[in-house]
Amino acid sequence: MSHRLTQAQLDAHWMAYTGNRQFKKDPRIITSAAGNYYTDSDGRKIFDGLSGLWTCGLGHSNPAINEAVAQQVKTLDYSPAFQFGHEKSFLLAERITEFMPKGLNRIFFTGSGSESVDTALKVARAYWRKKGMGTKTKFIGRAKGYHGAGISGFSVGGIPANRTLYGQGLESYHLPHTQVPGSEFSKGMAEQGKERADDLLNLIMMHDASNIAAVIVEPMSGSAGVIVPPKGYLQRLREICDQHNILLIFDEVITAFGRMGAKTGAEAFGVTPDVITMAKQVTNGVIPMGAVAFKQEIYDTFMDNGGPDYMLEIPHGYTYSAHPIACAAALASLDEIKKQGLIERVNSMSSSWENSVHQLKEASPMITDIRNYGFAAGITIAPIDGEPAKRPFQIAMAMWDKGYYVRYGADTIQLAPPFTTEQSEIDSLINALGETIKQQN
Ligand code: PLP
Repeated sequence: MSHRLTQAQLDAHWMAYTGNRQFKKDPRIITSAAGNYYTDSDGRKIFDGLSGLWTCGLGHSNPAINEAVAQQVKTLDYSPAFQFGHEKSFLLAERITEFMPKGLNRIFFTGSGSESVDTALKVARAYWRKKGMGTKTKFIGRAKGYHGAGISGFSVGGIPANRTLYGQGLESYHLPHTQVPGSEFSKGMAEQGKERADDLLNLIMMHDASNIAAVIVEPMSGSAGVIVPPKGYLQRLREICDQHNILLIFDEVITAFGRMGAKTGAEAFGVTPDVITMAKQVTNGVIPMGAVAFKQEIYDTFMDNGGPDYMLEIPHGYTYSAHPIACAAALASLDEIKKQGLIERVNSMSSSWENSVHQLKEASPMITDIRNYGFAAGITIAPIDGEPAKRPFQIAMAMWDKGYYVRYGADTIQLAPPFTTEQSEIDSLINALGETIKQQN
């Protein structure tokens, strides 16, 4: 690999969620990106099989977003996020509500998905306190859930490797995941597994609803390898939360703004939560930004119980909340999604995507499950004894060598191509992946 970095420069950067020692022996350096492709430091063209990190559905270097960012830097590079405002944040908040389910019309801005999760959980606790129910503080997450890297996110998250090093977090309990025996190789939503929602009743029995603030789940778990909700599962969670006065939070950091072939996972799966967290696709990944949509009654509870109007209704927020450049990027990104009809495009291509990814089953008996929804797929690879994550790593590295970027995590390979992907690109990605898996031993 031809890159210009010295060992000292490589060593200076402690890379996020990366095997640093392996990377620094054999760095994979990306130098530019345009459309659905990266270029690496050897000048090779590499197909972006995960849209960045589920961020860049529009592909890279979109001219309208680039222009909006360039203009914004020249006009207003930063304005204080507290006590003063700039117009674009209000325009963007209203624009985001057009993508949210009806009623989730109050938008709080953050700098990332992890901050969005923190915000949702803090607001949930404060909301119950404002309503005179301050004992409602516990959270329910789900096994295999991913809710970011913050202390709150790892607490409600359910990927063991992300939890074990960090000791005590927030008081949180976990529903079982929904990958039940018999659901393997389901296309879209599985028939099996809805009953796993009823485990919430057991947790309520153990802890009592008077102590539980919220349930948080990804409508479709991304980081654990695309775990699609079984038919009726999210509806059942909604029912139980309603019956027991518990807030339901959908973490849509991956699923909002088109990945599911719908505006949100809530829309795709037909269930409206009380709160939606989002990030990633909102700016097409160009500038960090997150947001949280709250149903109006939550916002009103704070406004109605806020004390004198010069006082803060909630002491919470970030220096980079509603950053002007992020707002400009997000307005352009959401415009482009609409203008190019990309949500409709993902929706109409999702069945051919489904057929393509499920053809992989024939490639190797090492593939023990394939899951898909919208423009996302997860493939489970049988582990090597004692080395559960090794094969997916080897597969992803071999794919990189062949000119395809795919994500690997635990025993899965994850795919989420840009919304602009052509069928021919899907075919070549899937063929290359099938060949690569066949070559594993
Ligand atoms: N929530 C979900 C569902 C995610 O997939 C992620 C990131 O992948 C996060 C939260 C955290 O977002 P960030 O990495 O922007 O903090």
